[in-house]
Amino acid sequence: MNLSGQKRYSTDEVVDVVVVGTGAGGGPLLAELAAAGLKVVALEAGPNFDPAGYGFDETLADEIYWTEERLSGGSTPEAFGGNNSGTGVGGSTLHWGAFVPRADPRDFRLNTESGEGCDWPIDHAELVPFYDRVEAFIGTSGPTPYPWDEARRFPLPPVLRNGPAQLMAAACDRLGITATDAPAAVVSRDFTVDPSVPERKACINCGFCHQGCRTRAKASMDVTYLPLAVARGAEIRAEARVHGVERDKAGRITAVIYRSGGRDHRQRCAHLILCAGAVETPRLLLHLGLATGSGQVGRNYIGHVATQVWGTFADEVGMNRGYPSSLITEDYTRPEGADFAGGYLVQSLGVEPLTWANSVARGRGLWGTALTDYLKRYNRVAGIGINGETLPCDANILTLSDETDAIGMRKARIDFGYGSNEDRLNAHATKVMREIWEAAGATDIWVLERVAHTLGTCRMGRNPDTSVVDVEGRSHEVENLWICDGSVFPSSLAANPALTIMALSLRTAGAFLKGPR
Ligand SMILES: Cc1cc2nc3c(=O)[nH]c(=O)nc-3n(C[C@H](O)[C@H](O)[C@H](O)COP(=O)(O)OP(=O)(O)OC[C@H]3O[C@@H](n4cnc5c(N)ncnc54)[C@H](O)[C@@H]3O)c2cc1C
Ligand code: SF4
Repeated sequence: MNLSGQKRYSTDEVVDVVVVGTGAGGGPLLAELAAAGLKVVALEAGPNFDPAGYGFDETLADEIYWTEERLSGGSTPEAFGGNNSGTGVGGSTLHWGAFVPRADPRDFRLNTESGEGCDWPIDHAELVPFYDRVEAFIGTSGPTPYPWDEARRFPLPPVLRNGPAQLMAAACDRLGITATDAPAAVVSRDFTVDPSVPERKACINCGFCHQGCRTRAKASMDVTYLPLAVARGAEIRAEARVHGVERDKAGRITAVIYRSGGRDHRQRCAHLILCAGAVETPRLLLHLGLATGSGQVGRNYIGHVATQVWGTFADEVGMNRGYPSSLITEDYTRPEGADFAGGYLVQSLGVEPLTWANSVARGRGLWGTALTDYLKRYNRVAGIGINGETLPCDANILTLSDETDAIGMRKARIDFGYGSNEDRLNAHATKVMREIWEAAGATDIWVLERVAHTLGTCRMGRNPDTSVVDVEGRSHEVENLWICDGSVFPSSLAANPALTIMALSLRTAGAFLKGPR
């Protein structure tokens, strides 16, 4: 994004807020704080990209992924890198899929409803005005009315359905499953929302959303909230990796230390807001021994159950073309007679050839000639996948390994495994997806087990013994420390997380501005 004219603050000046990370949690909050006239500096570990530089080429996309090593353990180890974390001005929204279901109200009261998992300390209704604001600003496309939420209104009509979406729609119709165009943070028409945010051109159905969107149709933070933040006086420093803080005798943070251009810098500040994501935020806190008194930092790591089902079709599908996740069913948020708590969403899939080849090698165990022979079917294959509730649990935890990275910080080790609830949910979803794909006419159906998203680790709550931040995002232990990213989720919710993270970001900004500082 264009940072050339942005305001600059001196590192010796005590700015009101330093925000670490510019993704889904950092972006909206930066715009809000800057609009309120606060002096705000964002420190972002990754580079600043120009969307015009994204190519229609998967091999070029590595630059927007967080590819530094993370150690992955547990009984269902999660793949990191391109699977779930981004870097750069815009964070993981540079390569997210922009599939934006709202969380189901029942998921916030899962424990009350089922005795499993945990309730959130806030209610869905509190988030609705923030969902509305985010959707209107980032430009969401979808069908009105929306079958599972009559009050939901989309500012833009749905994006076009891709090949897998058309197959899924026909199959769901045959089986009596309600399915419709997916809510997408993609503009289906040219879109201008604010004079300080350059116009975004309508989606051209190229299918390269996960490699960075050249046209800016996809709502990443660098084409939505961050230009607004900069226009309102925020400064964004790219390639600025935070690894330290300074504190006064009372324990308040007085400065943030970051590495940039091969040397350390010290930015003085009155408040620190961590938005570095559910792996790097707890890693930083554990590294610094900050807010760790309750022993909760790193606990309750959560990733969604994200199993996919693939099959071959007689005719060409061409899943490389079009917005990838263009169909949804929310009929399984509470499936009738289910033997598990919570539920899942089903979506159509479309992936580019290299991503698909990786999935085939991993999921089908094919290699060499068997792999390359199978890959020749690319134009005739299609997939569907789920995003399913994962309950927080003690065994799923982020700790620091003994290995260190290039600046001497210990690497994150993440242990993650499904419990019996996730196993039962997964079995149910796999059966449903197989039935849908059989009804669609797929043959040679196979299942790719996978986990997606990084959540939990610094959960919000009212009790300082069992949570890291309060219901607004303020640390229970360090007065001028706040957290605003996927790490504050107490449980996963069935919906994909980014829209909820953005809504929470506006909510946290409001609380920060209202509260005592
Ligand atoms: C391939 C993929 C597809 C996805 N698709 C969807 C989807 O369709 N729908 C959906 O809802 N969600 C999706 N997600 C998830 C979504 O993108 C994330 O949940 C969301 O962006 C997380 O927001 P965050 O603020 O917690 O972290 P991020 O957006 O990851 O932002 C964290 C930022 O902090 C920076 N950072 C980290 N450590 C430091 C440090 N020490 N110093 C300075 N900066 C630092 C990082 O570089 C990064 O830019 C997808 C994710 C991936 C990877
Ligand atoms: S399919 Fe649309 S939203 Fe996705 S990268 Fe292409 S133009 Fe952007």
